[in-house]
Amino acid sequence: MNQSIAIPSIVSLEHILPEEPLLMMGAGPVPLPQKVAAANSIVINHLGETMSKVIRQVKDMGRYVFQTSSSHVLGVAGPGSAAMEMAIANLIRPNERVLCICNGYFSQRLAELTRRVRGEAVILETRPNEGVDVAEVERVLQTGHFDAITLVQGETSNTVHNKHLAEVAQLGKRYGCLVIVDAVCTLSTMPLEMDNWGIDAIITGGQKGLSSIPGVSLLAFSEQAWNKKIANRQELLFHWCLDAQLADRFWNQSSYHYTAPVSGILALHEALRLVCEETLTKRFGRHLRCSRALQAGIEGMGLELLIAEPHRLNSVIGIVVPEHAAADNVRNYMSQVHKVEISGAFGLNILRIGQMGEQSRAHNLFRTLHALGSSMRASGVKLDLPTGMAELERVLSTPLPT
Ligand SMILES: *Cc1c(COP(=O)(O)O)cnc(C)c1O
Repeated sequence: MNQSIAIPSIVSLEHILPEEPLLMMGAGPVPLPQKVAAANSIVINHLGETMSKVIRQVKDMGRYVFQTSSSHVLGVAGPGSAAMEMAIANLIRPNERVLCICNGYFSQRLAELTRRVRGEAVILETRPNEGVDVAEVERVLQTGHFDAITLVQGETSNTVHNKHLAEVAQLGKRYGCLVIVDAVCTLSTMPLEMDNWGIDAIITGGQKGLSSIPGVSLLAFSEQAWNKKIANRQELLFHWCLDAQLADRFWNQSSYHYTAPVSGILALHEALRLVCEETLTKRFGRHLRCSRALQAGIEGMGLELLIAEPHRLNSVIGIVVPEHAAADNVRNYMSQVHKVEISGAFGLNILRIGQMGEQSRAHNLFRTLHALGSSMRASGVKLDLPTGMAELERVLSTPLPT
């Protein structure tokens, strides 16, 4: 043994973690339902009859959540970004032209992944803080051949929503493009219909809309995309772990690819089961009501939302921090004093509050809105906290228009 490499001095986690767990109300990860947390503590054999039953159900529930009848629902041991990389690496070949619709950080990542597999990424930037304009997409599609389109449903980084996703997907189909959608943030928080809208790949992560753990992700390929790009592929993909042909062995043939992240898959199973138990319709309603109520509460206090209503994402809300205050100070105060954690945003002086999965619960909203108002005040921002709280209460108790 090398004597100069000594045993490091380590403190136990209880000295590192806060004494009281923080309420996770940022842009993910989000709080875990108890059933999900419990499932995540179990280890089983990664192959065999028990795992096969679990996988069968995960795929069936995945089909419901993605709204697809495709037999190509697959999981991946990795973050949402690994699922993004898996979709791109399997669907884009060198020199193929991809129209990458970019609203911000995560949609840019799809372009970056495209370039890495030697695809030609043609960037269509939307106007700042706006969702994609369908006519603009068509104008670009008319300029030449494209093999695929990539876009996000919700751009978590600046809280912009591409509300015309369905139209873009249909347009893509008309122009012979595969349509690849990142729904890491939004899946199960708002409508997304893979088959009806003509989407070829949907990507999601665990730790956002689905309220599972980070690090185990799910994606679906359409039958059409699978048959065209994956089923008969002869050349070797650069990525071995992300090769969908190999992943299919585990996800559809009960055999070995790599050791599946069993605990995380059990957690995902429970997260999906809770979605099925709630039903998508009710879940969308809960998210919409909670997000609108929170937005009304924030504006009721006198704060400004970053994105105008026609382009605003409900799954994550961006709040402008008044000039004389600093987002980081507000955030620190919130976590230290109120034990509520929210997010900053890649250098912008804004704060982001998530409305994904377990975050969209009335009791979490009251605590978070109060903590936000109180922490803004501590940073010298003048606001009307009681009116904000009253607005939250009012909108939460108003039935949604049908
Ligand atoms: C969080 C997020 C990702 C990345 O997920 P990771 O698990 O951090 O890799 C990608 N796209 C969107 C829209 C996201 O919100």
